[in-house]
Amino acid sequence: MSKSYQFTVGDIQCAVLLEGESTKTSEAIAERYPKVSQDEIEAALGGTAGDDSLNCLYINSGGTRILADVGFGAAGPPDSGGLVAALNSIDLTPADIDIVYLTHFHGDHIAGLMADEDPLEFPNARFITMDAEWQEWIGRWAGSNSPQERRQFERFTAMRDRFSFVAAGDSVAPGVTVVDLAGHTLGHSGLLVESQGERLLHVVDLLHQSFQFARTEWHFIFDSDGDMAVKARRRVLQRCADEGLLTLFYHLKFPGLGMVKRRGDSFSWHPLERAP
Ligand SMILES: [Zn+2]
Repeated sequence: MSKSYQFTVGDIQCAVLLEGESTKTSEAIAERYPKVSQDEIEAALGGTAGDDSLNCLYINSGGTRILADVGFGAAGPPDSGGLVAALNSIDLTPADIDIVYLTHFHGDHIAGLMADEDPLEFPNARFITMDAEWQEWIGRWAGSNSPQERRQFERFTAMRDRFSFVAAGDSVAPGVTVVDLAGHTLGHSGLLVESQGERLLHVVDLLHQSFQFARTEWHFIFDSDGDMAVKARRRVLQRCADEGLLTLFYHLKFPGLGMVKRRGDSFSWHPLERAP
């Protein structure tokens, strides 16, 4: 079953496309926060399972069709690989995409491009990412002994001519601007969508579980620079709250849209109310 959620930001059409979703046990979640005890994780979850969605953002800005991240595709766990069906559900195919924007180079965001069988093809798209992201991962993969990382190095360097590199503040299309989120990876970035006084900030992997709104200091195991990630989390959540921005998170429960509010020294999450 495909899931998509269409909405507008001014006159820019957007959709959240569900690539996959799962629930994780408290044990599985605790493994991802190595400096936090399982008891603390269970208390933070409050007896609920941890939702983990994969929310890709589609943006149509004046006819330029942008897709932010591509998910696992055929390379992922059984509860992933839904992106193409979700695109189809809004009458699009990968061939309709003009720009694939890669927020960072973790597998849950890019692996579909590198699947051994049936890799995702976007035949008419150019690829955009932060220069720092390309440098970090091409450098890591080039020196790796892992066959998988060597393959990733070969696939991405073969695609090099299709890539453009951007920095924070650069425009990707009218009303779509790159936002620095560095920390989770060294070139982790999001997108600010603005039109007619309305705004959406896609903050991608700024956090991975909703308990991190209250516990912004909890380090996530896959952060390239944990301290920088904590600082980025606080800075950007504060911006979302202060500016009253509609905010999208890649991993929060589909569609991952809502508002961030201040709560004392930390924050709280208010998911968008929507029709079932
Ligand atoms: Zn992720």
